[in-house]
Amino acid sequence: MARTSPNIIITGTPGVGKTSHAEQLAERTGLKHISINTIVKDRECHEGWDEEYQSWIVDEDKLLDAIEDEVKQGGCIIDWHACDLFPKSWIDLVVVLRVDTATLYDRLTARKYPEVKLQENIDSEIMQVLLDEARESYDEEIVVELQSATAEEMDSNLERIEAWLKQWKENNAA
Ligand code: ADP
Ligand code: MN
Repeated sequence: MARTSPNIIITGTPGVGKTSHAEQLAERTGLKHISINTIVKDRECHEGWDEEYQSWIVDEDKLLDAIEDEVKQGGCIIDWHACDLFPKSWIDLVVVLRVDTATLYDRLTARKYPEVKLQENIDSEIMQVLLDEARESYDEEIVVELQSATAEEMDSNLERIEAWLKQWKENNAA
């Protein structure tokens, strides 16, 4: 059955603003915020805890099983710092949030990230790893890169996504 509401991935390096965007977008649109962090933890879609990185080692098959039914119904905002694991057929829009190095450094420092993780994430943002991953995994026309350094940028991003959503619904009306 075709979706009557689209699925959107909000991705990017940790600290770019995925959860902030996803929460506000959910509030403004009624779409459902799917926090993969929370699902991995609460539904135990992992193979244990990585001490050095202070994060769960994700079991991707288990994770996909856990969210499949919900996502297939549509209307989900998937919030995760990876995107290549979600089947193409599930996804209608991929938003890759970006931020400058100084801003990201401040945000991750405020979060007390371990040094190794901090440096790796900063490098990953500089190398645009998530943007490349999104472009390699999905059709070019559904991948958008948006800046997320300021509150003004976040507002304008949310407006853009809302406008896209309205258009999607018009295009997909029964
Ligand atoms: P992520 O989910 O990608 O790790 P968060 O949404 O948790 O990122 O944001 C990390 C921090 O940066 C939070 O303190 C949040 O308030 C702040 N932040 C995120 N996006 C913006 C933005 N566009 N402008 C200002 N602050 C932001
Ligand atoms: Mn987050």
